[in-house]
Amino acid sequence: MMHSIAATNVGWTAKFRELFKARDIFLHDGKSLRRFTIGARVQMAAAFAAFVLLAWCAFATFQAMAAMNSDVVEMQRQVARMQADVAQMRTETQQHAAMLERRQAFLAEMLSGDADAAELAQMLPQAEAAGHNPLTRSYAGVEGMQQELAAQAKAATVARYRETAQAVRQLGLNPARFHRARGGVGGPLEEVDNADPRFRELFASWRQLEQLEQGVAAIPSARPIRTEIAFTSGFGVRSDPFRGRAAMHGGIDLAGPIGTPIYATADGIVQRSEWNSGGYGNLVEINHGQGIQTRYGHMSRLIARPGQRVRRGDLIGLMGSTGRSTGSHLHYEVRIDGRAVNPIPFMQSTESLAALQRRLDAPVAVGGPAGGSR
Ligand SMILES: [Zn+2]
Repeated sequence: MMHSIAATNVGWTAKFRELFKARDIFLHDGKSLRRFTIGARVQMAAAFAAFVLLAWCAFATFQAMAAMNSDVVEMQRQVARMQADVAQMRTETQQHAAMLERRQAFLAEMLSGDADAAELAQMLPQAEAAGHNPLTRSYAGVEGMQQELAAQAKAATVARYRETAQAVRQLGLNPARFHRARGGVGGPLEEVDNADPRFRELFASWRQLEQLEQGVAAIPSARPIRTEIAFTSGFGVRSDPFRGRAAMHGGIDLAGPIGTPIYATADGIVQRSEWNSGGYGNLVEINHGQGIQTRYGHMSRLIARPGQRVRRGDLIGLMGSTGRSTGSHLHYEVRIDGRAVNPIPFMQSTESLAALQRRLDAPVAVGGPAGGSR
C-alpha cells in the first residue's frame, strides 16, 4: 500500500517534472534565429502567478456578485419602503382633503342663513387626526384662508349677538330668556364628540345667536296699525272714561276708522279670538312663546282663528268699538310673563328690532378687509 502511494507519488512527480522541464523557444525574425531557454522554476513561478491571478479574479468576481446581490436586496427594501411611504402619504392627503371639504361644507351651511342646528351639529368637522406630509402641507394656504373665514364668521356672529342682545335689553328683556326657552346652548352639541375646538366654538356662538334671533321673532316689534296712528290713551294709571276715577290702563289706545286693518305684531299662535265680556269686546290674543303675548281689543271683526299660526304683519281683525269703548279704536297690550307692560318702547323699537328681524332672513355677513388680503 505505502509502496503503491510512493510509486504514484513518484509517477506524479515525474509528470510534474515533465510538465515544467526546461524549454527552448526559437524566434526567427526573418534574418536570424534566436534561442531562449525558459527554466522549470521560471515556468513554475509563471504558472503559480497565473493561478494566483485566476484565484483572485474568481474571488473578486464572487465578492462583487455578493455585494451586488446585497445591493439589490437593499434596493428592493428601499422601494418597498418608498411604496409604503407613498401609500401613507396618499391616505393622509385624502384624509386631509376630506377634512378641508368637511370644514368648507360646514362653513357654507352655517353662512347659508337657513342652517338647522341639529344638522349643523352633525356636520361639525372633527379634530384632525391625520399626519402631515409634503402633500398636505401644500394645502396650508387653503387651510389658512378657511381658518380666517371661520374666525371672521365667529367675530361677525359675536358682534351680531351683542347688537341683538342690546336691542332686547332695551325692552327690559333678558336675552337669557331666549336661551333658556330653547333648552340652553347645549342640545345637539353634546352629540358631537371629538369636534375641532375652533369649529365647536364657532358653532356654539352661532347657536347662541340663532336662539336669540329666533327669540327676537317673538318680540312684538311691528305696529298693529299701518295707517298714521292717532294715539288717544297711554299706558298706566289714568282717569277711567266710564267711572271717572283713577284706574290702571294695561295697554294703549290707537284711534282710527271702523274697519281699519289690524296686524299681528310678531310671529305666534292665536290663543283667543272671541268675544270677551270683561270689557275687551272682540279680542284677539296671540301667544308669541318665551312668555310674551299681545292682545288686540274692541275689534269690529275677528279674522284670525284660535290655534292659527300667524306671522308678524298678518291681518288678524278689523278695528271697531266693541266692549267698554267710547269710539272706534284699538286697545293694544303687550304682556310679559302674564303682566301687562308699556307697549310704547316695543313700538318705538320697531325700527331697530325690525331691522334685526329682517336680517333673520339674511345670512351672517362675513367679509372685511382681511378677507381678500391674502
Ligand atoms: Zn284701552
